[in-house]
Amino acid sequence: MHELSVTQSLIDLILEEVEQRSIKSVKKVGISVGVFTTFEPYAINFYFETLKTEYPPLEDTVLEIELKPGVCRCQECGKDFEVKETVSNLPQCPHCGSIFLEIKEGREFLINYLEV
Ligand SMILES: [Zn+2]
Repeated sequence: MHELSVTQSLIDLILEEVEQRSIKSVKKVGISVGVFTTFEPYAINFYFETLKTEYPPLEDTVLEIELKPGVCRCQECGKDFEVKETVSNLPQCPHCGSIFLEIKEGREFLINYLEV
């Protein structure tokens, strides 16, 4: 599961922030996950809950995951369309059925905020 390594890097990032700002404990972390990252939010949450117990500043941290819709541009007809759910394969253009698409948004994996 690639969510395990991405969750570990997320925790490393948070811990870096914790150290830099001398934070004792983190209440909440908000992250954005694009639908095209192929990361399942429930899996990230599961690993986060498991891993956080090893780090005292994160013991009571709640992880809030926002799934970000993706935007594709069709290379055939040139129209943009939104993809709201995680997909394992690239979707087809709803306008012309083409599979030649350019991903414009939806690959982000970001920390939005830390609440301490
Ligand atoms: Zn199209």
